[in-house]
Amino acid sequence: MKFKGQISKMISDIANPIQYSLPIGEKKLILNKYIGKVIKIDFNDEIRCINCNNKIKKTYMQGYCYPCFITLPQTEDCIFKPHLCRAHLGEARDIDWAEKNCLSPTYVYLSLTSNLKVGVTRHNHIPSRWIDQGAHFAIKFAVTPNRYLAGLIELEISKHISDRTQWRKMILGQYEKLDLLQKKDELQYQLPGELKKYLLKDEKIIELKYPVIQNLDKIKSFNIEKFKSIDKKLIGIKGQYLIFDDNHVLNVRKYTGYNFTISSL
Ligand SMILES: [Zn+2]
Repeated sequence: MKFKGQISKMISDIANPIQYSLPIGEKKLILNKYIGKVIKIDFNDEIRCINCNNKIKKTYMQGYCYPCFITLPQTEDCIFKPHLCRAHLGEARDIDWAEKNCLSPTYVYLSLTSNLKVGVTRHNHIPSRWIDQGAHFAIKFAVTPNRYLAGLIELEISKHISDRTQWRKMILGQYEKLDLLQKKDELQYQLPGELKKYLLKDEKIIELKYPVIQNLDKIKSFNIEKFKSIDKKLIGIKGQYLIFDDNHVLNVRKYTGYNFTISSL
């Protein structure tokens, strides 16, 4: 196979194991069938904004040029900090976009990556949000009518857990052995009364199984911008990382907007 074109982050389907594909140019490359095989990825020295298609030297917030980054609704502050969302007050860069994305049912979840994590996501981004972060387990915690309220719950819960994902541990499958149901029970008492009505009951723990055929004991990040080409055996995919047998991993999401050629014999 040989595919050439601009890439964006991998798309996942929940299955056992998770199925990954990579949008490249106009096509979609099914990745799971290349696990266990040598693949070659070349960076063609071209980066384009995924919104306006202008040629750029570097990307902002995974795939955007600077002018798009400071004006698009997809890169507004509330994407990373939902409690800063002002769409419920009628204020947003693009109110039509906010209508669909910020003023619709929004979930607060707990997930277990390398450690316990709390996060916020739109109803239609479950479970892809969990898979993108490489969660091993996840559970829905609360559902609110808008992004702002979910952000308030996230803010309260985050006071009680340390929520920095260590990506190396996540890829290596090293995580704290804790029970998400029990954590969910404990943490709900930390919410102020007016937010308690959004809590979800009877939720089940979702387990996410990644296609990884070989365990590694250490990993190194591969910089394809610097080295231009990687030509190694793919042994797994987790989160948004391709994992190779010589301990290198490629963070695909970081290269959104880059033009790659991907081939395999
Ligand atoms: Zn742009």
